Amino acid sequence: MSAEEVIKALPKLEQHVHIVGSIRPETFLWLIEDSGMDLPYETVEDLEEFYDYSDFPHFLVVYSTVNDSITRERHYERITYEMMESQAACNVQHVEALFSAWDHVRRGLDYGLIVDSINRGIRRAERDFGVTCTIRVDLVRNYGPGIGMKVLDLIEEKGDNVVAIDTGGSELGYPPKPYRECYRRAREMGLHTVAHQGEGAGKDYVWECVEHLDPERIGHGVAAGRDPELMKLIARKGIAIESCPVSNLRTGAVGSWAEHPIRRFIEHGIRVSVNSDDPPMFGTDMNNEYLQLHRNLGFTVDELFQISLNSVETSFLEPEAKASMSRRFTAEYEKI
Ligand SMILES: [Zn+2]
Repeated sequence: MSAEEVIKALPKLEQHVHIVGSIRPETFLWLIEDSGMDLPYETVEDLEEFYDYSDFPHFLVVYSTVNDSITRERHYERITYEMMESQAACNVQHVEALFSAWDHVRRGLDYGLIVDSINRGIRRAERDFGVTCTIRVDLVRNYGPGIGMKVLDLIEEKGDNVVAIDTGGSELGYPPKPYRECYRRAREMGLHTVAHQGEGAGKDYVWECVEHLDPERIGHGVAAGRDPELMKLIARKGIAIESCPVSNLRTGAVGSWAEHPIRRFIEHGIRVSVNSDDPPMFGTDMNNEYLQLHRNLGFTVDELFQISLNSVETSFLEPEAKASMSRRFTAEYEKI
């Protein structure tokens, strides 16, 4: 078996994938039709141009249009199911999926019904593909910490399968510190904590995030790679980084593979996972993420398997589930 075939066969865990960002082009066309939207896209080819981003703000505009196409709570069942089907095709065995509740509540959808719909998709996919999945709710910085608190109220009322919170969305102009109370409350509620940081803005926000939000994991963290002291602090505090390499190239968070900080993170003792973020929107999937690291940054199969094990170790699974998944991954790896 070639190295590339082994990499595809590796057991994997996805820590950072947006359910909306996982909508397949053909499913987006279905959503446009089912929602009666007037958009100039009729074929998958039409969407290629739509998905060609110039930068991170442009990506967010496209992402918002896709969000507009979700007009019924039941839409989430199909997109969650298909997200997990695609993950299973890359031998991903557990997914921690992101869902931006307020994006839909402000458009008039019911939070509780969406959570039910997501969980229906998860249960069907678990049965059909053997992949498990938990939910992380993104408070989305653009709405401000007041809405963040309202979203925490919603989670308090109905937390079915919701295990963590995050703050994503626009970064520049939205410093992390105002979310301090939201993170404190989330921890009190027994939720795990993550923050998208150092993707669309500089290292100052990463410092502020570490100091004031103290999350268990940071999404992307690219800007931290330019500051050895910051990387040392992140390693010392045991904060893990969810790296999303192809996404970082596509949004321009890094200019080239050579600039990508993932190796520097590992050299500084930071535990890193590799993730696909918004797979169809970036023309990627988990196999491709691992393959690109092999092809462009020289990661060996053993190094990639270690990243996969780290992803289990820093996941939000319960300790027993982590231990058994690690054992299963190792046994599977030895058999490849
Ligand atoms: Zn993300």
